[in-house]
Amino acid sequence: MSDPLFETDLVEAALRQVAAAADVYMKQLDELPARDAGSDAAARSFSGSLPDVGVGSAAALARLVEAGPTAATRSAGPRFFHFVTGGSTPAALAADWLASALDNNAAMWVSSPLGAQLEKVSLDWLKDLFRLPSEWGGVLVTGATMANFTALAAARQWCMERLGVDAAKNGIAGAAPIPIFSSGFVHASAVKALGMLGLGYGSIRRLTRDAAGRFDLDALESALAELDGAPAIVLATAGEVNAGGFDPIARLADMAHRHRAWLHVDGAFGLYARLSPGLAHLAEGIDRADSVIADGHKWLNVPYDCGFAFVRDERLLHSVFGIGAPYFPEAVADRPDYLMLGPEMSRRARALAVWATLAAYGRDGYRQMVERHVGLARRLAEQIEASEDFELLEQPHINVVCFRYCPDTAPPDELDGLNRRLGQLLLDDGRVYLGTTIYGGRVAFRPAISNWRTREADVDQVLPVLRELAAGLSDVSTAG
Ligand SMILES: *Cc1c(COP(=O)(O)O)cnc(C)c1O
Repeated sequence: MSDPLFETDLVEAALRQVAAAADVYMKQLDELPARDAGSDAAARSFSGSLPDVGVGSAAALARLVEAGPTAATRSAGPRFFHFVTGGSTPAALAADWLASALDNNAAMWVSSPLGAQLEKVSLDWLKDLFRLPSEWGGVLVTGATMANFTALAAARQWCMERLGVDAAKNGIAGAAPIPIFSSGFVHASAVKALGMLGLGYGSIRRLTRDAAGRFDLDALESALAELDGAPAIVLATAGEVNAGGFDPIARLADMAHRHRAWLHVDGAFGLYARLSPGLAHLAEGIDRADSVIADGHKWLNVPYDCGFAFVRDERLLHSVFGIGAPYFPEAVADRPDYLMLGPEMSRRARALAVWATLAAYGRDGYRQMVERHVGLARRLAEQIEASEDFELLEQPHINVVCFRYCPDTAPPDELDGLNRRLGQLLLDDGRVYLGTTIYGGRVAFRPAISNWRTREADVDQVLPVLRELAAGLSDVSTAG
């Protein structure tokens, strides 16, 4: 059974085997916990050395579907509030399966007219959805990290062009560092991208005016004025991960424009504020930035992995990423080759899922989902405010709720330790899944609601489960 060629007739059986297991997983998503108690043991049950002679697809897949779902988390389900985690809509999930079955390389039109055309249509639809100028360039990538990388590569190219250097071609060694400014909201992935780009993540100047990390606009104004028009990058965040805060994008756009700096906006999930009239003020001015990115696998609810980068001047993406080879076909108008606009050459046809979900649910469906999630975040915030034993650390701006447990019985200086222990218990318990962070110097919970399946009943479990677990913590019960 060693050679896959002997399994030519078994493809359908293999797909049915997995479809059946997926069906069971999906049907249990609403009831079962976000993580099973036996997950660690089930994960470690996959071990051992590489087989010389394989067991064949049926046996290998049987093993995978037997322990796999237990070893996984139910991150596709409605109570996985950790990080910012979307599910997969029915249309996106099925389209993504088709992408695997077709196994097209979405590098170029000749390798997949379907992949290339659907990417073009998807990017046009996304610009429309987010109300970004239709003439901007864009590309699908693996997530917000690579989208930040892609957009900041364009920013680097632009800055260095202004100094007479082709950064992609000749490198930036020997050039003076490019000044980079952000608030405290900047995400770790943008920091990582600057390191990968050779811009040096140590060179970010975080200009903050309070413990939450809000932008000090006066400091930015002076810093940009001092540069006297020399190129610089302003890194803005629309939707910060701890409490969902937004940098003041419109004012940053004014400043960047006045001082000829590049404005980049990381809107991994916050860009979706532009879908709702009630939230649009948060992300106002984004259409005046130079580059904007968002995730697909968060609030768009397409499977991992998917993100998108949009850049006002598409030419810059070509300058960085448009490296050809003699065996590539010549560029033809209306037959886009997306490998020329992003970091990867061979690429998954991510657009199938993006196109399918946008076609299936449209602008209205997405607006409703975003508004439902924001409503659920407010509902949880109200429950926290109405309680005696929880404290809301910030009114939710969007779909993230930042709060902590603070019973009367616990001394203030023990609250950080208490919330940390409670956070660990909660992850071990698994019924509702949310992580802790440090916000304004305090350990806090930060559930993010971004799964299409989540309803009131799911959110309503958060405080009761936390309370129940807290009651079992010895320091709380003895103090009480
Ligand atoms: C999640 C997130 C990222 C990183 O996204 P990945 O998809 O994990 O690469 C970047 N920025 C913000 C604001 C995020 O929330």
